[in-house]
Amino acid sequence: MLRGRYARGGGSAGAGAFFCLLREGGFVINGSVLPSSADLLRWYDRHRRTLPWRALPGQEADPYRVWLSEIMLQQTTVTAVIPYFERFVDAFPDVMALARAPQDRVLALWAGLGYYARARNLHACAQAVAARGGRFPDTVEGLRELPGIGPYTAAAIAAIAFGRPVVPVDGNVERVTARLFAMTDPLPGARRAIAQQAETLNEDAPAQARPSDFAQALFDLGAGICTPRSPACALCPWHGSCAGLRQGIAATLPRRAAKEARPVRYGAHFCVVDAAGGMLLVRRPEKGLLGGMMGLPGPPWRDTQWTKADAMAHAPSAPRLRIDWHRAGRVKHVFTHFTLLADIYAARIPAFPNSMVGEDGMVHHAGGEAVALPSLMRKCMALARSGNIFD
Ligand code: SF4
Repeated sequence: MLRGRYARGGGSAGAGAFFCLLREGGFVINGSVLPSSADLLRWYDRHRRTLPWRALPGQEADPYRVWLSEIMLQQTTVTAVIPYFERFVDAFPDVMALARAPQDRVLALWAGLGYYARARNLHACAQAVAARGGRFPDTVEGLRELPGIGPYTAAAIAAIAFGRPVVPVDGNVERVTARLFAMTDPLPGARRAIAQQAETLNEDAPAQARPSDFAQALFDLGAGICTPRSPACALCPWHGSCAGLRQGIAATLPRRAAKEARPVRYGAHFCVVDAAGGMLLVRRPEKGLLGGMMGLPGPPWRDTQWTKADAMAHAPSAPRLRIDWHRAGRVKHVFTHFTLLADIYAARIPAFPNSMVGEDGMVHHAGGEAVALPSLMRKCMALARSGNIFD
């Protein structure tokens, strides 16, 4: 099959690449036949995953479900996302229902997926789409104008939901591409070159005819066959054209530059409970990590450790109320850019005086009421409760 496209070599594969046309019509690059989208699509038709947001063969994709899944899947696995996705679509069956929902309800259903700014953007995006009559834009450029939609997500929605012939380059596609073309330059520096190379994968006619399936086939190949540690190359529809496999380096790709150690930050949080099981909570500032979420009171996190005396200067207090704070221990929580070590102090008081509530946004949360808490705060509370101080 003669295919009218050339792989523009990126990174180390491209630097010294040579092309030639085989007698039977396939192109070769550095000795490997370029991958055929027809081979990938044939494989996909037999092995595609069934996912709750994915249209079945012959059905039209629902842009709302595609968009919701793509936002949830950022930095999280398919397995983790499925129950959240199902709860969301049960609660909000379409974008108009999500747009109408109170933000706290959206955050409550999101709690545990992390990255709460994403949940707030999700809600803002639903409202922007509702203002357009509930129709998502159907181009990459139009989608990019919506809150919380970056270049990858716009390409994924445009390809999957609207059949635009673009290649969304996520971690899976990046890995497949680096291996196919034996691109050995390390990430993150090589990211742009790999993405440019990936964008050539859909240039032949079968991929152009089925952009939605082609994008999802790439995802499935990366998730199920071309896996990070042990690619199942014998089962891969592209094994005959994979330079990484031919060179025996596939499993080592993509390479990564040595990471700098993750910095450590320190926090102190206070868990005070009254005789009725009520608790003092505070809404965190809108901007910043866990923005807008409820949490335990405490001073801002910092780069140096909190001594008990330092921390106590920030403990909730009230005139004529003696609070006996006990150190319950330390919680470790890993964020993307730093690790937080938070000292937890716990105390029990008979009842909350009015003067304690309202100060610095503090609220009295009655025992037994459900509240959306980020996983860090749930860990802090579990530690505070483990010391039997509230019994
Ligand atoms: S042959 Fe192996 S390394 Fe190459 S794309 Fe397929 S699974 Fe990945």
